Amino acid sequence: MVRFTLSLLWLSLPARHALRSLEDAIALRAELVQGKNVVIVGGGFIGCEVAATAVKLGCNVTVVHNAAHPMLRPLGSGLAEQMQLRHEAMGVTFKLKRTVTDLIGTDHVEGVRLDDESTLDCDVLIEAIGSHANVEWLSGNDIDRNDGVLVDSAMRVMTRDGHAVPNVFAIGDVARFANPIFDLEARRVEHWNIPTETAKRAASVIASYLNKSDSYPAILDEPFKPVPSFWSDQYENHLLAFGLLSLADKATLVAGDISGDCVFEYSRGDQLVGVCGIGMRSVVQSYRAKFI
Ligand SMILES: Cc1cc2nc3c(=O)[nH]c(=O)nc-3n(C[C@H](O)[C@H](O)[C@H](O)COP(=O)(O)OP(=O)(O)OC[C@H]3O[C@@H](n4cnc5c(N)ncnc54)[C@H](O)[C@@H]3O)c2cc1C
Repeated sequence: MVRFTLSLLWLSLPARHALRSLEDAIALRAELVQGKNVVIVGGGFIGCEVAATAVKLGCNVTVVHNAAHPMLRPLGSGLAEQMQLRHEAMGVTFKLKRTVTDLIGTDHVEGVRLDDESTLDCDVLIEAIGSHANVEWLSGNDIDRNDGVLVDSAMRVMTRDGHAVPNVFAIGDVARFANPIFDLEARRVEHWNIPTETAKRAASVIASYLNKSDSYPAILDEPFKPVPSFWSDQYENHLLAFGLLSLADKATLVAGDISGDCVFEYSRGDQLVGVCGIGMRSVVQSYRAKFI
């Protein structure tokens, strides 16, 4: 995966951070010192998790996010607004429906300018604005690499005209596959359990082929229906989810209290597409069976 960074000048200006690798985390940790002005661009899960860590370390933290609430797309407005309130109660400031248009400073970042022309003091800038699949090196053939790599239910890489490329498999964040739990649209899912599930599926297909198993054709045709899952820890708030919450057109509080531990069901029309809770793990986990 390739991390996105802001397309601004001074790419190498010190104190600009993104977070994907252990080295990134170690470099960032060294700068999260009490009293530092930390600006985080992007209020998704990574931006919010870093905000929680930085504010606990005594930094002055501002999150610049281009939507009405942090984590709005994955969580929906009810939980997203609630998580915003919990961050604000811990001291995080949000600049919502805003983005950064320029950096201020000569040999290091001193501030950022927002699209409303206001400025923020900034000692440490963290760019948490997403990533894209690193598939450019696959150019020069007819693999369907429109957002990651298209695979069939056996994790075999597909060409643009719908044929499986012999002996080539893709798994994890880069694999775009249809999940019949939800519908037939192929999507990439950047959750921790997908690399494991897709690897297991590819391994069973490959093993069946190598063992010249009679069941190989049937294994190829088996539907692949992993239940996506993610978690996120922000302060004492432990979020756990199953399904694809972003497909929902409605989120309904089904257990607990919105200001405490709670569980939301996410549905698209009549179809349950996800569940997410703050705390109440056993309730959330009980939903997993509903997707299998
Ligand atoms: C900071 C951070 C926090 C996260 N937190 C959570 C979380 O709390 N919960 C959750 O569900 N998910 C989380 N995720 C997402 C989760 O980590 C990913 O879904 C998961 O790591 C994807 O695994 P992967 O093996 O597909 O890809 P990666 O872990 O990205 O591994 C891909 C590997 O391939 C290598 N590579 C890339 N291109 C090539 C190439 N051309 N040739 C050879 N090797 C190559 C890369 O260097 C890398 O080592 C987080 C991600 C990040 C960055």
